[in-house]
Parts: sequence; structure tokens; C-alpha cells
Amino acid sequence: MTATGSDRASAPTRVLVLNSGSSSVKYQLLDMADGARLATGLVERIGERSSLLRHTPAAGDARTREAPVADHGAALEAAAAELAADGLGLDSPRLAAVGHRVVHGGRRFTEPTRVDDDVLAEIERLVPLAPLHNPANLTGIRTARALNPRLPQVAVFDTAFHTTVPEHAARYAIDVATADEHRVRRYGFHGTSHAYVSRRTAELLGRDPSEVNVIVLHLGNGASASAVRGGVCVETSMGLTPLEGLVMGTRSGDVDPAVILHLSRVAGMSVDDIDTLLNKRSGLVGLCGDNDMREIRRRVDEGDEAAALAFDVYAHRLRKYVGAYYAVLGHVDAIAFTAGVGENSAPVREAATAGLAGLGIEVDPVRNAARAAVPRLISPEGSRVAVAVVPTDEELEIARQTFALVDEG
Ligand code: ADP
Repeated sequence: MTATGSDRASAPTRVLVLNSGSSSVKYQLLDMADGARLATGLVERIGERSSLLRHTPAAGDARTREAPVADHGAALEAAAAELAADGLGLDSPRLAAVGHRVVHGGRRFTEPTRVDDDVLAEIERLVPLAPLHNPANLTGIRTARALNPRLPQVAVFDTAFHTTVPEHAARYAIDVATADEHRVRRYGFHGTSHAYVSRRTAELLGRDPSEVNVIVLHLGNGASASAVRGGVCVETSMGLTPLEGLVMGTRSGDVDPAVILHLSRVAGMSVDDIDTLLNKRSGLVGLCGDNDMREIRRRVDEGDEAAALAFDVYAHRLRKYVGAYYAVLGHVDAIAFTAGVGENSAPVREAATAGLAGLGIEVDPVRNAARAAVPRLISPEGSRVAVAVVPTDEELEIARQTFALVDEG
């Protein structure tokens, strides 16, 4: 597929979405005129001896390449070269903008934001709050800018959807001066997914988002819950960092903060040791050695006790949050499961809602077991609270928000 003369005459409707993670860059090129995905790609193991680049154009075969890719800048250059080879390069006149996922937007960035030097400086100022992610996001933005300085760059923040969480839910009950000096508060993450899924859930119910209250359970390798009242987020489970809240693949979620003091004093562990323990060696992997829910269920079915306990701890935490967010919202129209585990694991959905019939929350076993890649209800006909599976699409949401910003001028 190559850009032609007639292409040049039409208004730009394409958005390149870039998600620069700590050791990977994912990208998708979407056309907002019809929602078509023109190309997707991934550069993994950045900075290691051999990196992997996989580029999949909609029209043509996937291309995979192994080569050293030194840093995020080089990764994006390699991705841009692949896109250019398909006539979809960053200089294409049909490209309207690049939309960048940026993990931490602090309190300032409540909406998608067109990038300029001030915005870059502010994202830089937030690096201490997201030391692994914001630097990678910044490199992605700077490289994309250098590749085509005329192209609008838009930052879409993981935290933005949660900036509406009221102060009494965002504040930790610690000394105010200390908290404020060090910007310690609940920020929440996965906001793009929570925004998209809560809106899609309202659509599934045939209602306007402003009319419905939804509990969203984003259960991937990272996991978070949110309470969304009439389209506005009022509570979320991740906090200052993505460590708080639900049990995750490798993260503990909630623990007594004194666990850290205890391990430091009694076990002599350093701050870095405890950081690694809670972020990388906890959660499902810490409890049973596996973080893939498919493998855990296989082990449970074989009678493995550690896997069964890990599953139960995971499900118990979920039920606790559903109950808490029910109380926060007062009235719940729907509970939506999304991301890798939420979309695919019927046993998790069953266990997370078990025993909640008194709250009007029930799951129909046949509907729950059915598989489909589209939003669907799994609660019985006529039940008080709709329970739904709603596949997330963070790239589409980033593209949508980016295009809405540049399209309005
Ligand atoms: P990330 O947080 O990395 O974006 P995903 O949303 O892709 O993660 O979720 C990844 C997780 O989803 C895997 O670790 C695995 O536990 C779970 N998962 C994926 N497919 C299935 C499946 N068919 N059944 C149960 N769990 C699944």
C-alpha cells in the first residue's frame, strides 16, 4: 500500500498510537474515518543484546526481525522505517497526529494535551512519580517530533480519567504537609481503559454514560478497579503508583504499609529489595510461582494447593473491592470485566461475584462460559446489576482522544 496523489487531496484522518513501555514500544496506525487498523507493531527487549521487531500491516504479511535496538529512540526509528516501507511513514499527508500513551500526568493533566515544550517539561517534572515509564514516554515523543516536526503530537495520560476522584478518596490519611511536599496522593492508572470500558458498558446497556454507574474491573497482568458515576470516575484502586489495590500478576496490591518497615528492620532488606519483592515477586507469582491465570487454573484443576490459594486470595480481594465500590456508588447499574484475565477467565468472573446475589449481582454460568470478542452480558435476564465482559481497546481510545483534539483545531 503506497500513498498516491489522490490520497494527498483528502483530509488527514490517521493517527499513529505509540505506547512506549519500560522495555518495549508498541504502535498502531488507525484510520479514524472508519476505525480501520492499518498496521500494528511491537519492538521488544529494547537495550538487550537482541531486540525483536514485529510489524503487521493490514495489507500484507507480518515481518519479524531480530537485531540490537539500543534505546526507545532507535526503536521508534525502526518502527517508522517499517511503516514507511508500506507507504505509511510519519511524513504521510494522511497522518493527522501521533497519540502517545503517557503513564503519569500528575494533577495537572486532566485531558489529552497537545505537546509543546512546556508540556514536555511538565512530563519531565513528573519523572520521580513514574521513574520507569515517563522517561520512555518522553523519548517516544521527542523521537516522533524529530522524525516529523510539523506533525501534532498528543499526550494521553493514564492518570487523566482519575483526576475527578474527589479529594476525600484521593487523599491518604497522612500528614498533609509531607504528602503535599512530595505529591503523595492517589493518582490511579489504566485510566484510558477505564474510560473506554465504562463508556462501552453504557452503550451495551443502550444508555447514555451520564445515566449509569459502573464498576470496572481491569484485570490484566496489572489490575485495577474503578467506580464510575455517570461517566465520571469517583474512585480507583491504584494509588501513588500502580502497586496498590487488587492482587496482580507479580504485584502484591494492598498490604499493611508496616510490612515494609518490618522487612527493613527485621529482615534487613533494602528499599530496592522491598521494591522488587512487592512489584516483581508478589501477587500471583509470589503466592504460587505462576502469574498466568490459564496456568493457575490448570494447576487448580489438578489439585495444586498453592495455585488454589493464589486463586482464592485473588478472588477474595476482587469481591472486597466490588463490595466497597458498591458502597461508594450507592447504586450500581453494571460491573464490567476487561483485559486479559477479565475478558478470558470465566472462573475468575464467577469467583469475583460469588455470594453477591444479595446485592443483585449474579452471573449466568452458560453466558459466562461462552467466548466472544465483543461486549456481552453474562448476568441472567432481568438481574438487578448487569454483569458484562467488555474487551478493552486502549489504542483505539488513545487514537479517538488524539483525533478529537487535533480535529477540533
Ligand atoms: P497487560 O497488563 O500486560 O496488558 P493483558 O491485559 O494482556 O496484560 O493480560 C495478560 C494476562 O491475561 C496474562 O498474564 C494471563 O494471566 C491472562 N490471560 C490471557 N489469556 C487468558 C485466558 N485465555 N484465560 C485466562 N487468563 C488469560
